[in-house]
Parts: sequence; C-alpha cells; structure tokens
Amino acid sequence: MSQRIYLSPPHLGDDEFRLVQEVFASNWIAPLGPQVDAFEREVCELTGARAACALSSGTAAIHLALRLLGVGANDSVLCASLTFAATANPILYQGAQPVFIDSEETSWNIDPALVGAALADTKKSGRPAKAVIAVDLLGQCADYDALNAVCAAHGVPLIQDAAEALGATYKGQAAGRQGRAGIFSFNGNKIITTSGGGMLVSDDVELVASARFLATQARDPAPHYQHSTFGYNYRLSNVLAAIGRGQLRVLADRVAARRANEAFYRKALGGIPGVSFMPEAPWGGSNRWLTHIQIDPGAAGTTREAVLEALAAENIEARPLWKPLHMQPVFAGCRAHVNGTAERLFSRGLSLPSGSALTEAELERVASLVRLAIPSATRQ
Ligand SMILES: *Cc1c(COP(=O)(O)O)cnc(C)c1O
Repeated sequence: MSQRIYLSPPHLGDDEFRLVQEVFASNWIAPLGPQVDAFEREVCELTGARAACALSSGTAAIHLALRLLGVGANDSVLCASLTFAATANPILYQGAQPVFIDSEETSWNIDPALVGAALADTKKSGRPAKAVIAVDLLGQCADYDALNAVCAAHGVPLIQDAAEALGATYKGQAAGRQGRAGIFSFNGNKIITTSGGGMLVSDDVELVASARFLATQARDPAPHYQHSTFGYNYRLSNVLAAIGRGQLRVLADRVAARRANEAFYRKALGGIPGVSFMPEAPWGGSNRWLTHIQIDPGAAGTTREAVLEALAAENIEARPLWKPLHMQPVFAGCRAHVNGTAERLFSRGLSLPSGSALTEAELERVASLVRLAIPSATRQ
C-alpha cells in the first residue's frame, strides 16, 4: 500500500517545539499565561483587530459571541446552511433557533439577498432575528459589503465564522474583521493548528473583555470566589498557545502552499469535461484551505462518490463538501430559505488533499488518480 495522503494534516514549522520547551522550562503548564497573552497580541497584529481572546475552540468562540450579542431562548439566528455543524450548534446551546440561509453562486457563501428576505420575515413574525452568522467557506470570504448593509438596515449584528479562513483577505483587509465579531479555529485540520483551539476577535474591546470573563468561569473581581453570572471553562492552555505562536510565523507560507496546491490541481484537471473548481470571488483572496472540485455526472460520466472511492482505494483521503445543515437530521424542522445552490454543490463537491506539506509527486499521484477515475478525462 502506498503512503497515505491525508486531506489536511498539521504542518509544524521550526519554532513551535522551541516555544513549547520554553513553556516547560518556565513550568507554566496552565490555562492562561504569557504565551496566551502573546498569541492574542500577535493575532491582533496579523488581523488588525483591536482585541482578541484565545479560547479552547472555534465553537466556544461562536458560543460566547452569541451570548454576548444577546441571543437567548427561542430567539432566531440566521446561519449559513453550507457549513460544518459547529457553526450552528452554539445556537442550540443558547436555546435559540437557527434559520438556515442558502448560498450565492459567486463565493458559495450565505446569500445577502436571502438574508434580507429572512430578516424581513422574522420581523413580520414579531420576533426579529437577533444575529446573523456568515461563514467563510473553505477559506473564502462571504460578500461582506452586501451582508453588512442588510444587517445594518435591520439593526442585527453579524458574526463572522472565519474558522477556515485565517490568512484570507476581503478587499485587502484580513479575514475575520468583517463583522461585529470574528472567530478562528486552530483545530488539527485547519490551515494552522494548536491541536485544538480558537480565537474571538473584534474591534469592540468590551465585548472581548466580556468573552474573557465568561470563558474564565465568570469570576467577579473579589479576593474570594464570587460569581454573579454563570461562565464556562473555555480558555486556551499556555502550552497550546506556544504552538499557535510558532504556527503564526509560518502562516503566510502555508497560505502560499495551499494556493499553489489549488493552482496545480487546476492545471492538471481544469480541462476535463464535467470538472470545475470552486470560484474565487472578486472581493477577496481565498487561503484555499481545501482545493475543491465539482463533478457534473452528466458531463464527466461518473459521480463524486465514485471518484472519492477510487481515491480511498489508493489510500488517499478526500471528502465531500459539507452537507447543508438544512438537510441534517439534527436540524430537522428548522426554518430555511433555500434556493437549491447548497444542495447542488453538496451533491457534486469533492475536496482534494490540500495539506501545505504535500510534495509535487504526491499532488501528481492524486491528480493522475482523479483523471483515471473520470471517463471524460480518458476520452479526451
Ligand atoms: C472547524 C470549524 C469550526 C469549529 O472550530 P473548532 O475549533 O473545531 O471548534 C466552526 N466553523 C467552521 C466553518 C469550521 O470549519
């Protein structure tokens, strides 16, 4: 069996181990500490955000943002449908109800026109939505000028789930900065990792301070343990923050490598009838976290599933696109504004191995197996 090729494995640089050794030498093996403070500072420098709070996961960051923006029991929250369940699960943690919104064709992200219709709809029902969550799918920013305009018109805050998009840009600005609050994930499969972790960023310094308070069990300033509200244990450990600091130093290289992967696949597979690539919207630079192709069964002569299986048989990990959340059993019964885009993209979509440490030979191996699995390629 040939060496396994993973979808998106961790890729450590030269500094992470040394930084972790510093943590061991100082015996600061606790949540919080100087590495966490430095990691937050460095994410602010990188993104231009005024404040950042390092957390145990991206999911925790979304949860805190929802609670701090006033989302509570039975409130409606508009949420992109074409995303990972972690985007919407925190809506349920708050006892609120997701309203799923389909994608537009330019970036495959939440459709601002449908957001406008859904906000008007919830207003008419007498319970206006309390927040909107946009997602930067596979590292590409949503249409934020349009989203911010429609959210401002309705006075609803926008949360940006940029879990997949660290290092991407929107109109020259760092991804994560386009809403009231932005969130990043440092899970093991993301563009950089702390093995597990997340970050909340915002220009609203007080919101971030409140997030830090809630994430640390909501301890009031008092000499004894005093609590006037309930909190969470959501902070990042000092050990993991050290890994994150090392990873930030190589982020630009990781983005360049992932974009080069996409360019390689595009060159190798772009001409095959029935195969198309995820478009890059004119408003930004995707970090191309995952290279993603669509396989049109009519023109290609095969399905996404068959190509996935052909790769799996050769010990290569590929993945379908996220199954839209409005199709997930756990969210059955939730309202949705659907235009068919997410369902179509899901039925045809395949993400190819996209790690930043892939060699040219590995990329070649994947591309040639994809070609072999697609009848229209061999007919060419
Ligand atoms: C990974 C991911 C998350 C969750 O991040 P964790 O750090 O794993 O909790 C949320 N949203 C999207 C879109 C993601 O890809």
